[in-house]
Amino acid sequence: MSGEKTSVDVARKRRAESAAASGRKEPKLLRTEGWLVAEVDGLRRAASGAEVNTQRLRFLSQTEKVKQGSQGVLYWMCRDQRVQDNWALLYAQQLALAEQLPLHVCFCLMPRFLDATIRQFGFMLEGLREVATECRTLEIQFHLLLGAAAEVLPGFVKDWALGTVVTDFFPLRVPLQWVEDVKKGLPLDVPFIQVDAHNVVPCWLASDKQEYSARTMRGKITKLLPKFLTEFPPVEKHPHCAQRPVASVDWDRARSFVKVDPTVGEVQWARAGTAAGMATLESFIEQRLHSYAAHRNDPNCAALSHLSPWLHAGQISAQRAVLQVRRGGARGSPSVDAFVEEAVLRRELADNFCYYNRNYDCVEGAYEWARMSLQDHAKDHRPYLYSRQELEGARTGDKLWNAAQNQLVLEGKMHGFMRMYWAKKILEWTSSPEEALSISLYLNDRYSLDGNDPNGYVGCMWSICGIHDQGWKERPIFGNIRYMNYNGCKRKFDVSAFEKQYGPKQLKIS
Ligand SMILES: Cc1cc2nc3c(=O)[nH]c(=O)nc-3n(C[C@H](O)[C@H](O)[C@H](O)COP(=O)(O)OP(=O)(O)OC[C@H]3O[C@@H](n4cnc5c(N)ncnc54)[C@H](O)[C@@H]3O)c2cc1C
Repeated sequence: MSGEKTSVDVARKRRAESAAASGRKEPKLLRTEGWLVAEVDGLRRAASGAEVNTQRLRFLSQTEKVKQGSQGVLYWMCRDQRVQDNWALLYAQQLALAEQLPLHVCFCLMPRFLDATIRQFGFMLEGLREVATECRTLEIQFHLLLGAAAEVLPGFVKDWALGTVVTDFFPLRVPLQWVEDVKKGLPLDVPFIQVDAHNVVPCWLASDKQEYSARTMRGKITKLLPKFLTEFPPVEKHPHCAQRPVASVDWDRARSFVKVDPTVGEVQWARAGTAAGMATLESFIEQRLHSYAAHRNDPNCAALSHLSPWLHAGQISAQRAVLQVRRGGARGSPSVDAFVEEAVLRRELADNFCYYNRNYDCVEGAYEWARMSLQDHAKDHRPYLYSRQELEGARTGDKLWNAAQNQLVLEGKMHGFMRMYWAKKILEWTSSPEEALSISLYLNDRYSLDGNDPNGYVGCMWSICGIHDQGWKERPIFGNIRYMNYNGCKRKFDVSAFEKQYGPKQLKIS
């Protein structure tokens, strides 16, 4: 998509044109580029010495004391692929400093992960390269281990005589299993500690059960927010060096170790890594935040943060985004509140669902009313049926849907409003809710940079199976699941402008 205009470019052009037509001037950027990083550095410095709230962590091992006589503390990085603003790394450093030990970070690279392709793996590897560089400047030893954690990590811990392993938290089945497997392989006298570095309020503390909806989760999160929405201290230059040198990472070898579909190309608009994520946050605060509340459901409008690729990859912290959005917009303004609702409540509700519902990606995971209703309408006549290939190639009779699919394939991110319409239409156009769910998850996780995430499972389950939603007026195929249609979209935004921008395109998909 290099050289093509993104929705952000087009919306910016349109804003400038309408401002010119009305004689208004486009708002000037008030600060020089990069101001956010400087501001955040100062905030972290001011919080230096603050200890990690121990309610963020839990022991997965019987033993809780750093092994005596050991040679270092390890942070096994999984989901939170960043150095700063990372409570798991901060905690590992806190332990290493207390014991005067070297600090190590490792990442276990798998050849595949769920439906991810080179689009997501390339983004992740570039981000990890930045992590490795930053670790080097802070005298933290970074290791890229090739293979399943259960196979490579216990041996690595013994080889380096490490006395504690800290890891982060990822509530999908596969990474939860990695943690279980590592737990079995670690020596019994090495503490294994998990820190929820992804959620503002640790998932297991926010609630001890699957929450029914945003309504039941809101009070719980709001009550705990003041305790957890605090400033991060910096990860400091580490004063204790490892006794032997660490091999530098062979990134070409790492790339060739990955065995994912190479045909889904990497995207140009989203540069990987924490620095690019922070630049996106800065541009959001400066240019788009003010329209977020009013225009975030208009796919033609540049109002979204576009942070999901970096949040999903853990390259920036949602807590940082929320802290800065609160500072950057007048607190209590509708846009700030709306952003907090999405980036904290909705996002953490998705983790809650995946953590407590083992069927988070299948119809059996839906509420009983929704399952019964979908079943009652399973045999309803479907006027249009499309195969997965037709959907993937954006070859339906609905120009708006095709445009959204094109946006997903070409840019690796579909507008949030269109995602709902897109998934609901898949329910309408396939032979069963099971097929609809499986196709929507496949397409989402294959093409979306932020795919393979609890938010994606919940987004598809919300659209097709009514998760976190209520029952609506009964209608064919959908039963009581909320319905969306083309005319409804026409009432909300300029459908033809979106169709013009993203279609028709000839997608080359076999
Ligand atoms: C069918 C469907 C599939 C989806 N797939 C994904 C996915 O794979 N990955 C993903 O991160 N999100 C997914 N979402 C949720 C949401 O659409 C995206 O998070 C959002 O569009 C990301 O763009 P943004 O960062 O510009 O959003 P913004 O509106 O700027 O929101 C900021 C952040 O808040 C969080 N957020 C926003 N909306 C939601 C929501 N509805 N649920 C949970 N968290 C939210 C995200 O972390 C997002 O990055 C899906 C939604 C649907 C309906």
